[in-house]
Amino acid sequence: MVDYKELGLVNTREMFKRAIDGGYAIPAFNFNNMEQLQAIIKASAETKSPVILQVSKGARNYANATLLRYMAQGAVEYAKELGCEHPEIVLHLDHGDSFEICKSCVDYGFSSVMIDGSALPYDENVALTKRVVEYAHQFDVTVEGELGVLAGVEDDVVAEESHYTKPEEVIDFVTKTGVDSLAISIGTSHGAYKFKPEQCTRDPKTGKLIPPPLAFDVLDAIMERLPGFPIVLHGSSSVPQEYVDTINQYGGKLPDAVGIPEEQLRKASKSAVCKINIDSDSRLAFTAAVRKVL
Ligand SMILES: [Zn+2]
Repeated sequence: MVDYKELGLVNTREMFKRAIDGGYAIPAFNFNNMEQLQAIIKASAETKSPVILQVSKGARNYANATLLRYMAQGAVEYAKELGCEHPEIVLHLDHGDSFEICKSCVDYGFSSVMIDGSALPYDENVALTKRVVEYAHQFDVTVEGELGVLAGVEDDVVAEESHYTKPEEVIDFVTKTGVDSLAISIGTSHGAYKFKPEQCTRDPKTGKLIPPPLAFDVLDAIMERLPGFPIVLHGSSSVPQEYVDTINQYGGKLPDAVGIPEEQLRKASKSAVCKINIDSDSRLAFTAAVRKVL
């Protein structure tokens, strides 16, 4: 059993509370290699900001659980070396799909886990999430649950269509499971292709797609039922067009890749949305740089 507190990590409880009170959100960056980790820690130290490092099940299998534990510990020490006296770094499991993987992460030094039962029937999602919460809370590890389905690709899970979170379910879910935060579906989606061209309008000047707005009415209805409760947005990369253009210029093929506009993310972060998940953007930055240099 590895205690995350001994690695210098923190869970999400205090940082979410401060984020909601302060009207901002904390970025949760997926990472898959050392260079991404370097960039995330450098940026968080420079901006003196708390940060959530997250790995999917696939990324954890790829990295190796033991190596990952020392990478997280290394990230804390690196942040200190960069002048951050008390780094606030979370190591979080993204989209855990079973009790066993969540338990394994808790046992290997994760300070937070997500159990994603959103594809299950409602009652099974409640039962699975509750079981993870009961285990994780014994070690002061925080748990994120999910209601609603996001479209897109995440590891080997592909969802064609999204289903918005049903606001009428959230009180029951949070009460029965005891989760610390809730991922919701309000129109974000996984991957660099968040929207089909027919869902968007096209800017006549640049020819770039303009994505449809997020469903802020659904977010408002959820917040009304769960005042001050931490809400999480998945699939929230903004897909910066300068990276897409660089990739396309150097032999890549990403026509019409479009993300969530930053002003929509800023608007969301002023509300109870306190964790914004970003994966595609760091992959795009990495790919653009590699293509340009090679
Ligand atoms: Zn996700």
